[in-house]
Amino acid sequence: MNLSRRRFALLSTAAATALAAPAVIRLASAQGWQGSRPKNVILMISDGAGFHTWNAASYFEFGKLGEQVYDRFPVKTLMTTYPLNTSDKPTNDQTPKVSYDPAAAWSLLPGQGDLGGEITKKKYQNYFAGYEYVKKNYTDSAAAGTALSAGIKTYNNSINFDNNGKPVKMVADFAKSAGKSTGVVSSVQISHATPAAFAAHNISRNNYAEIGREMIEDGLCDVIIGAGHPMFDNDGRYRTPAGDKAFQYVGGPDTYFKAVTGRTSYQWIETKADFEKLAKGELKLDKPKVLGVAQVHNTLQFNRSGKGMGNLNANVPDLATMSLAALNVLSKNERGFFLMIEGGAVDWAAHANDIERLIEEQVDFNRAVRAVVRWIEANGGFAENLVIVTTDHGNGMLYGPESDRFAFQPIVNRGKGQVPEVSWHYDTHTNELVPVWAAGPGAEQLLALTTKEDPHTALVGFGDIRRYHDNTDIGRLVIAAVAAEQRARAN
Ligand SMILES: [Zn+2]
Repeated sequence: MNLSRRRFALLSTAAATALAAPAVIRLASAQGWQGSRPKNVILMISDGAGFHTWNAASYFEFGKLGEQVYDRFPVKTLMTTYPLNTSDKPTNDQTPKVSYDPAAAWSLLPGQGDLGGEITKKKYQNYFAGYEYVKKNYTDSAAAGTALSAGIKTYNNSINFDNNGKPVKMVADFAKSAGKSTGVVSSVQISHATPAAFAAHNISRNNYAEIGREMIEDGLCDVIIGAGHPMFDNDGRYRTPAGDKAFQYVGGPDTYFKAVTGRTSYQWIETKADFEKLAKGELKLDKPKVLGVAQVHNTLQFNRSGKGMGNLNANVPDLATMSLAALNVLSKNERGFFLMIEGGAVDWAAHANDIERLIEEQVDFNRAVRAVVRWIEANGGFAENLVIVTTDHGNGMLYGPESDRFAFQPIVNRGKGQVPEVSWHYDTHTNELVPVWAAGPGAEQLLALTTKEDPHTALVGFGDIRRYHDNTDIGRLVIAAVAAEQRARAN
């Protein structure tokens, strides 16, 4: 059926980067983009948030499901997240090595043996074959980010590199070619895998200093906001950096000193007060581009000392404030913008099997979504703004307290303000289906891409949504959305 669809290539201008573009972009319709085009595209990613992570935060915030602002979005779909292969480097082979099979993912047959945890080092028993299936062949955040930004499947560790080891164009490149502004916001380091996937190109996500240098010195994005400050520890305390490695997330010591002394194309900001002023549109900017690195090292909040919720680092903004700061800068461009906002430490809390801080991080993300939707309502509404809320993959296999005996038992709600009853079955990523919520021009095109069905997902608290598409469909959609104006002019 795909073969019978008319395919169309995205146009690129001479001003586009020299990177190889994905040759063909497929959308659902024969004509390519359908209906009106969004001026702005906002992609919000809660990193590593499987279904019950979203549900846990909703139970905590509202005592029930269905109350989040994104629950009112008109388009809801399921999405696969697996990579091309699970190699940590290019294999020069385009044959897909992994997939998603609903029957295997929900199998009630007995599982085999245990799997050792990668972070916690705990043993996780494979109580059911379905548990065992989704613990294997999972994506990392780099390949998943590349799928969402460039619309291609690739190897784990890739930041917009294909499996032949060649850089590819992604949504920020296309947005720039179309005259739009672009930005990334994250609650973890600015050069961590997910923001990097929307701002840089590198053969490996682990090359933080190279990625940070590309982001800051090449300056593709108009706004870069996140954590990764070399001069502050994870509790937001000023410190003397132990060595060059402390500077890696901001491109190394040279790039950092250039940035803070105004010798890059960005205005540097770092204090909570400045983020708050920028969020209100009250900060005077000397440069049109902003590089904001909060005064904390790895994460805004998750890696702070102590346990449980509360006692937050007081010197850093929250994700909602950072998001509004970015929107204030990007919306100055009358041609519109592309913005990626990541709740990055939801994934870190899942790796740590830390339910309290998982909820804390997901609630912070949910507040950011509410702030973005309020901004949209005041700035052209859903006629001008396409917003997609999703995750890049599951993590931790969060299920109910008796899910060792009752397969896929949902987490148990204990009411508003209470941590639900849960149990963890893993401490790293999974190959589960994940949720997508979308609103605004083009959102409905995702529905036409849901070509497959998973009959078992009634268990996950997502209503009767059963149809799913691939994560690369989001990448193709956002590229087509930002390139649409350009294509229209060229035609
Ligand atoms: Zn991730």
